[in-house]
Amino acid sequence: VKSGNRGHYRFFDQEFYARIQLRRETEAELVLALEQDQFVIHYQPRVDARSGTLLGLEALVRWQHPTRGLVYPGDFVPIAEGSGLILQLGAMVMDKVCAQLAQWREEGLHAVPVSVNASARQFNEGSVDDVLAMHVRRHGLPPSLIEIELTESIMLSNAGQVFDQLTALHAMGVSVHLDDFGTGYSSLSILHKLDVDVLKVDRAFTAQLGTGREGQILFKAIISMAKALDMRVVAEGVEDVEQLTLLQQLGCDEVQGYLVSRPLPAAEVRHFLRPGISL
Ligand code: C2E
Ligand code: CA
Ligand code: CA
Ligand code: CA
Repeated sequence: VKSGNRGHYRFFDQEFYARIQLRRETEAELVLALEQDQFVIHYQPRVDARSGTLLGLEALVRWQHPTRGLVYPGDFVPIAEGSGLILQLGAMVMDKVCAQLAQWREEGLHAVPVSVNASARQFNEGSVDDVLAMHVRRHGLPPSLIEIELTESIMLSNAGQVFDQLTALHAMGVSVHLDDFGTGYSSLSILHKLDVDVLKVDRAFTAQLGTGREGQILFKAIISMAKALDMRVVAEGVEDVEQLTLLQQLGCDEVQGYLVSRPLPAAEVRHFLRPGISL
């Protein structure tokens, strides 16, 4: 029993150190990747639930790793958050999005607002509004072409600082979207405190639609609450027509998900950038 236990612990030790090792390597590689500009942005459409009209795009970062291929944010954003590199990464994403919007406008395309994900750490540094203001100015864009997505986790940081930044964003005409709604800590009280314009309901809820009445009851409650608070509701992760039909019946405002479109490289998304296009 004893030696078996030792073997057991050693196995976990090895796994634990391997994970720390990978994290360290990734951190070092991220520094280089930022210097060498190894990132690309993909864009996922968000549409009106009834008409399918394109309302906006969400910017999702990908890492073109020299040996690992296209790496998704789940494998490096948390590491960047842990090391402080998220500040540089966030500024880089903002810069790329603004450059892309400016290019689309130059080409005479109909640019829609692009939402950018911001980590709690970026709000902690008190710089989200300033970083945004700097980049839109540099690229000659109206700030209202950028939207900010944040999660409930920002409530764990300095509240006064968070409110100052949200106020500044609103003053610039930037709309604020609460991401992954329903997965966090204090969903109800947060809506009271944070002045958000759009509620993005996490795809875990969307996945429950059609599997029983519970999912619909939850969505219905969220929608009526959001309406009372004058917020729009987006369902994330809409994958099939049954989910879309139920969401339309429940009065959900907007949808996003593979049913409408996967996140796409800029070259593919440009075909959608015509006035009033429906997807
Ligand atoms: P998120 O903000 O919740 O973004 C939505 C994620 O769901 C994306 O994954 C998207 O590809 C995926 N998705 C969209 N529609 C569907 C669907 O119908 N079904 C399923 N199963 N998935 C769908 P992705 O691109 O891997 O991004 C993962 C997370 O990484 C994002 O979750 C966001 O939290 C974070 N992230 C992405 N880009 C950035 C960034 O520039 N900055 C920061 N701080 N975080 C980012
Ligand atoms: Ca998001
Ligand atoms: Ca500021
Ligand atoms: Ca989300």
